[in-house]
Amino acid sequence: MRTIGLLGGMSWESTAVYYRRINEQVRNRLGGLHSAEVLMRSVNFEAIVGMQKANEWDAAGATLSALARSLERGGAACVLICTNTMHKLADTIQSAVSVPVIHIADTTAEAVKATPARRPLLLATRYTMEQDFYLSRLREKHGLDLIIPGADDRTTVHEIIFGELCQGVIREQSRQRYLDIVARARDNGADSVILGCTEIGLLISPDMMDIPAFDSTLIHADAAVEFSMAGDNAPRKNAA
Ligand code: GLU
Repeated sequence: MRTIGLLGGMSWESTAVYYRRINEQVRNRLGGLHSAEVLMRSVNFEAIVGMQKANEWDAAGATLSALARSLERGGAACVLICTNTMHKLADTIQSAVSVPVIHIADTTAEAVKATPARRPLLLATRYTMEQDFYLSRLREKHGLDLIIPGADDRTTVHEIIFGELCQGVIREQSRQRYLDIVARARDNGADSVILGCTEIGLLISPDMMDIPAFDSTLIHADAAVEFSMAGDNAPRKNAA
């Protein structure tokens, strides 16, 4: 089993989901008291959000690159940036380390493409829904016919992420607003939903929707476990 490096804290509410999922998957595979080899650097999210708002992406890239290097020095065999948004800096962070940065857009797109779905609605932060780093990867590299919410809906989705989910606040009213956005997109041709922000799975889950939902957090965590255990000859139990 190879050590999984997590760049976490963005927000810690979703990093906790990563940690649990990664360990559950290892236990599912190996059984008993087996758990994952994990190394984490968790940031003060307030500082990162400050850089996002001030458009100081180079500074954020330098901060996260330094932390990724420390993960590599500490023995991590891969790095997970535990947020979709900060994948804006994935190339910068990858160039700072020699171990692979497992890209959340690629793992999520592969999960979509493993099903018949090709027209997913993307729910994410404004950065992820509006900037090219994520959209073009899903559209051009993976050939997905992405649907993006309209301007008012993007504002709703973004504000609920930062104002509630990243602060551990779960509101029924916000859940309904998300589900309404999904229902409208479905009526307009969406055949699935990408939960393209690592906190969204805290609010809505696949059983609440009548089209398939792809949770980037769980998919990303599972990809890390796959990487960690590739070539591992240990016996497998209840392989997921
Ligand atoms: N966790 C969120 C994401 O997946 C948003 C927090 C951030 O801005 O990094 O995009």
